[in-house]
Amino acid sequence: MNNKNPGINEELKVKAQTKNIKKNPINGTKFTIAISSAKGGVGKSTFATNISLALKKIGCKVGLLDADIYGPSLPKLFSINEKPTNEGSILNPILKYDIQCMSIGFLTEEQTPMIWRGPMVTSAIRTFTQKVAWKDLDFIIVDMPPGTGDTQLTFSQEINMDGVIIISTPQEIALQDVKRGINMFDKLGVKIIGLVDNMSHFLGDDGKKYPIFGEGGVKRTANEFKKNFLGEIPINSEVGKYGDQGTPIVEASPDHKISKIYLDLAEKIKSIYN
Ligand code: ADP
Repeated sequence: MNNKNPGINEELKVKAQTKNIKKNPINGTKFTIAISSAKGGVGKSTFATNISLALKKIGCKVGLLDADIYGPSLPKLFSINEKPTNEGSILNPILKYDIQCMSIGFLTEEQTPMIWRGPMVTSAIRTFTQKVAWKDLDFIIVDMPPGTGDTQLTFSQEINMDGVIIISTPQEIALQDVKRGINMFDKLGVKIIGLVDNMSHFLGDDGKKYPIFGEGGVKRTANEFKKNFLGEIPINSEVGKYGDQGTPIVEASPDHKISKIYLDLAEKIKSIYN
């Protein structure tokens, strides 16, 4: 056995597995789009919730699937405290802000530690993609956990994914991981719609841009890998404030300059799939 380069063996294994698995659609939606970030804390869930609301505001029917089994954030970000109803083994999504929502956080107590192992994560994802009564949707937005692990692999191998949007901050340390994420989705044959630079800069009262985390790194990475750069979202304290209140900024304050950026991004996404 050749164990000199386990990385390559692993890579070949993934490729072989991907080739042989039949992919399933998520019933009840036309398109499935994942929101991914290689690192945690870069604003992926904030993006997933706000882009869902922006797509809704421009007339799309939207579902939001929180696929972060270890650290679900949808119950907090959308202020959902109820449990989903079911018909037999089929779960009904919870409707909030006119968006069909599902999260492992609806099914467990807030303080329960998520000691789920790989195979259980996979089975939770199968339930959420195959046993939820998603209905008449244009888009399901999937909020992925950070990184390049079981969830990304399961989705890419088993589910018909129409594209993925990668969120990053412009810090070098985040960009290293973004490159890993791009390589993974490329290898698994999932189309990368583009990259978004979140918390790109702070816009001062003096009208000047302050690049707190460095400048232009996400765009450079997009160019380097020949991917689309979808745009930048500045750092703004209102984003966190509304998120903490459980009504994301696009819903709470649709005329805010940050909300307008989200609405423009939603138009871009819609135009790709029209
Ligand atoms: P992730 O899903 O990548 O772990 P979150 O969406 O939970 O990240 O965001 C991490 C923190 O950053 C949250 O407190 C969120 O409110 C904040 N945040 C995200 N985007 C912005 C932004 N553009 N401006 C200010 N704060 C932001």
